[in-house]
Amino acid sequence: METVEVLLSLGSNLGKRKNNIRKAITLLEAYNILKIKKISSFYETEPVGNPDQPNFINAAIIGETTLTPEELLSACKKIEREVGRINRPRWHPREIDLDIILYDNYTIETERLQIPHPQMHRRRFVLVPANEIASHLVVPNFNKTIGEILQDCKDKSFVARTKDN
Ligand code: ADP
Ligand code: MG
Repeated sequence: METVEVLLSLGSNLGKRKNNIRKAITLLEAYNILKIKKISSFYETEPVGNPDQPNFINAAIIGETTLTPEELLSACKKIEREVGRINRPRWHPREIDLDIILYDNYTIETERLQIPHPQMHRRRFVLVPANEIASHLVVPNFNKTIGEILQDCKDKSFVARTKDN
């Protein structure tokens, strides 16, 4: 089976935020969705878009998968539910959010799935953790590395590494 490398962004701003992220990572591996290769530090971050909500903990992971992009999205949604996410409108606080930032060097544009994630270049809370583990990865469409995209990012919102994961 072909294996590809993927970059995921994880976030939580409700409940025990670090536990939610830890549990999502554990389940991704336990269910053989990803073979985890790298985990960034956990970062305290200011909410972007809808500021009237608690700070997030954000992290990034690199893993290997044999799932297709669509299968990976469905698997991520299943884990979001299992970690305790309930349906709320977009931009609302959430127990856990799993976003696919990169899937190998693919570009995907369907209604359900856009990869590279269309907001990644505007979000320090995605780029800073990703840069810690994947600064040299080249992002399709942008033809720049994560590190270069972070340097060019206009978002100045608060992102700070926490002491431990
Ligand atoms: P947010 O945009 O805040 O992460 P949700 O987590 O509620 O919002 O996701 C809304 C929808 O975004 C998902 O149902 C999914 O179909 C879609 N989506 C599009 N591209 C991606 C991606 N790269 N990773 C994850 N979800 C995506
Ligand atoms: Mg999401």
